Amino acid sequence: MSQKTIVWHKTSVSKQDRQALNGHKSCILWFTGLSGSGKSTLANALARALHEQKVRTYVLDGDNIRHGLNKDLGFSPQDRVENIRRIGEVAKLFVDAGIMTLTAFISPYRADREQVRALVEEGEFIEVYVKCPLSECEQRDPKGLYKRARAGEIPHFTGISAPYEEPENPELIIETDRVSVEEAVEQLIRYLKDRQMIP
Ligand code: ADP
Repeated sequence: MSQKTIVWHKTSVSKQDRQALNGHKSCILWFTGLSGSGKSTLANALARALHEQKVRTYVLDGDNIRHGLNKDLGFSPQDRVENIRRIGEVAKLFVDAGIMTLTAFISPYRADREQVRALVEEGEFIEVYVKCPLSECEQRDPKGLYKRARAGEIPHFTGISAPYEEPENPELIIETDRVSVEEAVEQLIRYLKDRQMIP
């Protein structure tokens, strides 16, 4: 089908209408960092805390998305780019739906993360760098992946045989080898409150 035959349909209910109904704003909290740094743990702990404050949330998690929407993608550089592109588009739809959207993906390339930032409005992309030394991530090794990567069983493993490009200007940095999950959640909630994203 020619692109010209697809016309954007204006919706009868806007993002602003949905945010007003919900009583809070919607944005993407983009957790990025090495495997085992704590992205899923923090995204889920924050979602729980927000939910208890009556904020509508959804967590898009790397492993879960790779079971469905992105099951056709691997870990080559091209597939990683496409992985993040699709997730960015999905996250944008969630923001439009008025949901506080938390994403937990390694997302190792700076350019890909910036592409997602460019998809949404100013202030709607909050890059959260979940910072943790590789040695600590490797020691935690919650899924045994580092062990397998060191044994040469997993090609293109971030931090071992594939690069991780640190965020240059993230909205937030959380050093998970220094702060507890509870302290990190407090830091994130404070950030959202200070910007009137949540009441
Ligand atoms: P990722 O999603 O980044 O791959 P996970 O959240 O799956 O990482 O795993 C992080 C591991 O580190 C978990 O086992 C978690 O319990 C542990 N951990 C220890 N301290 C922290 C902390 N301060 N914040 C987040 N996770 C932590």
